[in-house]
Amino acid sequence: MSKAFTALGLPETATPDEVKAKWRELVMVNHPDRGGNPCDFNEIRKAYKIAMEEASAPKACPQCNGTGKIKQSRGFSSIDMPCMACGGTGHVQ
Ligand SMILES: [Zn+2]
Repeated sequence: MSKAFTALGLPETATPDEVKAKWRELVMVNHPDRGGNPCDFNEIRKAYKIAMEEASAPKACPQCNGTGKIKQSRGFSSIDMPCMACGGTGHVQ
């Protein structure tokens, strides 16, 4: 995850809804129309956009580390089996 989450005061596990809620909160306080610093507000807006993209992106499957495959031992060799946890896509929503 990026420092965009940190900049907004969010945990790295924040969902898109949580990012949006935090954004609304920050707008109330930091919007230039409400006496906020336009430069600061611009930084917050940038961080918000990045955080939203990252929060909305599919997460790499922890079972297969995003590869979509699981190595299984077959005697002396191993074969790649599709990961059941993510259906072989490598990503979980
Ligand atoms: Zn997987």
